[in-house]
Amino acid sequence: QWIYLNGQFVLKHEAKVSVYDHGFLYGDGVFEGIRVYDGNVFRLDEHLDRLYYSAKSIMLEIPHSKEEMTDIVVRTLRKNELKNAYIRLVISRGVGNLGLDPSSCAKPQVIVIAEELALFPKELYKTGLEIVTVATRRNRPDVLSPKVKSLNYLNNILVKIEASLAGVSEALMLNDQGYVAEGSADNVFIVKGNKILTPPGYIGALEGITRNAIIELANELGYDMREEPFTRHDVYVADEVFLTGTAAEVIAVVKVDGRVIGDGTPGKETNKLLAAFRKRVVEDGEK
Ligand code: PLP
Repeated sequence: QWIYLNGQFVLKHEAKVSVYDHGFLYGDGVFEGIRVYDGNVFRLDEHLDRLYYSAKSIMLEIPHSKEEMTDIVVRTLRKNELKNAYIRLVISRGVGNLGLDPSSCAKPQVIVIAEELALFPKELYKTGLEIVTVATRRNRPDVLSPKVKSLNYLNNILVKIEASLAGVSEALMLNDQGYVAEGSADNVFIVKGNKILTPPGYIGALEGITRNAIIELANELGYDMREEPFTRHDVYVADEVFLTGTAAEVIAVVKVDGRVIGDGTPGKETNKLLAAFRKRVVEDGEK
């Protein structure tokens, strides 16, 4: 497996960065996770827009244009002869001294990893996920916006740890006011009748690329799709709950904090949206 590291392809076990990299020392950097379906990179432009948006937010200048980044992604896929893959793009502040000040970092490091997908087991799409809500709160959007996909993922890691301690694989985090924000690495939707809700970005959700695709599809399919805040109570009494993300696509949630959602099986609308999403992926690839 070949890793793109600052202009060169190096073998996986040789792809190393300095312990003085501020991405390592302080989580100073940004990243993206992107999916490749049958040789087509899903919504690469949207992912690159989010990457540059995240970088701008932390005043990190990516040393390539979006066109160059596109080319690097494509070359990495070709080099690894991958048709279905997960791509991780990482831009760290670079190597500096031990101080926090990023001005000691001469240049950002650009890393692209492309590998085979590690997916949720297929059965989970039939049975649905059991999740919990956790004590970890989403950081406030006026401090470091959760819309920024930075290398600071401690919030999300704590959510994952709490989920594991509760014996489940994913969990929902609330914001400081008690509104539901998102999962550790996915967005959340609830269905009530013809209405579908997902938390707006300002509540503390990343504006997921899969989330955007589902909002688009829900509108096309005639649902009353809204970006609106909701609470844990609304989740408990929803007809259906599902999560969206690059790796998970659309996955049903059938139990939250031990409470059964709907009839305890993946809901009709969730399955309909998953099918519509998979169809859109193919249509996008044909463009
Ligand atoms: N929320 C967080 C915190 C994430 O890290 C991710 C993963 O990228 C998502 C949501 C889902 O976003 P996307 O659909 O772009 O993968």
